[in-house]
Amino acid sequence: MVIVMASRKREDIDHVVKKVEALGYQAHLIEGVERTVIAAIGDERGKSRLQSLESLEHVERVFPILKSYKLAGRESHEEDTIINVGPCTIGGKQLVVMAGPCSVESREQILETAHAVKEAGATILRGGAYKPRTSPYSFQGLQEEGLKFLKEASEATGLPFITEVMTPEQVPLVSQYADILQLGARNMQNYSLLLAAGKSNRPVFLKRGMMSTINEWLMSAEYVMSEGNADVIMCERGIRTFETETRNTLDMSAVPVIKKLSHLPVVIDPSHGTGVWNYVAPMAKAAVVAGADGLMIEVHPRPSEAFSDGAQSLKPERFAELMKEIRELAKFSGKTLEADTGAAISAGTN
Ligand code: PEP
Ligand code: MN
Repeated sequence: MVIVMASRKREDIDHVVKKVEALGYQAHLIEGVERTVIAAIGDERGKSRLQSLESLEHVERVFPILKSYKLAGRESHEEDTIINVGPCTIGGKQLVVMAGPCSVESREQILETAHAVKEAGATILRGGAYKPRTSPYSFQGLQEEGLKFLKEASEATGLPFITEVMTPEQVPLVSQYADILQLGARNMQNYSLLLAAGKSNRPVFLKRGMMSTINEWLMSAEYVMSEGNADVIMCERGIRTFETETRNTLDMSAVPVIKKLSHLPVVIDPSHGTGVWNYVAPMAKAAVVAGADGLMIEVHPRPSEAFSDGAQSLKPERFAELMKEIRELAKFSGKTLEADTGAAISAGTN
C-alpha cells in the first residue's frame, strides 16, 4: 500500500511510520520534492487494514501499489494461462465453443443435442443438472441423474463437458463427473463455493455476477486461485443495466479489459447476455473478433419445448450456420476451432 502524507513534519511522518510497523508491515519512506510517501510492504491477510490510516489527520490518501488480485492479475504473471481440458486448450490459439441446452431434460434430449453440436463443430458440451432458478417452483434440474446423462453424452461424442455446481457440498460429486465446474452468475460472490471449487481438481468457469464490477469478478477468481487451483476461466454473461430490450447488457469490453488486467482466458456467453435467440449470433461473432478465447451458447433441439431459457436457445441448424461463420471470423483474431497444437509443433521444428 502507498500512504501519501498530507504533512511533511518529521514527527507526523514518524508517527505514521510507527503505526505502519505496529500493524506488521515494513515502512519505506520516499521523500519527494512536494510530497512524502510511505510504501507499506507486507501481506495484508490476518492483519489490520492499512486503509484505516486514511482517517489520520496527517495522511492524505492510502491506496494499493499492486492490484489486489495478485494471482489472477497480469502484474505477477505475464503470459496467458492455457488450460487443457481433454483434447481442448482454453486460452491459447484454439477458440473453444461450449454448446448445449440450458438444462439437461432427459437422456434423449442431451444425447440428441450433444451429437448435433459436435456435428456442427462445438468443442465442449454444456448442460445444467443443478439449476439456479429465480422461482423455487421452476424446474430445478435432474441433478445427479442429469450428470450421468451428461457423462454418457460426453462419452458418446468425445466432447468434454461443463456443468454448474451450486453449493460447496456438491463440488466433490460434480467433480467426479464434469470436466469443468461452472460457477453461475448468482454465485460469483459465494465465497465458500469459490473456496470449495478452489480445492477441486477441475478447471473453474467463473461467470460474472450480474451486478458485479470487473474488479469484484477478478477478486472472486482470486478466491479460487488462493486455494491452489490456477485453472480459472472468466465468462462474461451480461450485467444488469436500465436496458430492457435484452435480458442483460452484454459487456463486450470485458474481453479486452480482462485481457489487459489478467492472464486468464475469457469466454463470452451471448445467450444469457442477450436473452433473445436472434441476437445470439451477432454477439457471438462480435466476441470472436474482439478476441474472446471462447463462446458458451445455448442450443436446444426444440427451443419452444425447453424447460428453461428456450427464448435464447438456438436450434441446431442455426447453430451450425453460426459455426461456419465463426470458423472464418476466428482467423481475424489469430484463432482456430481446432485444438492448439502450436506448442508441440514449434517444439518439433526447433
Ligand atoms: C446457465 O448457464 O444456464 C446459467 C444459469 O447462467 P448464468 O449463471 O449466467 O445465469
Ligand atoms: Mn440458461
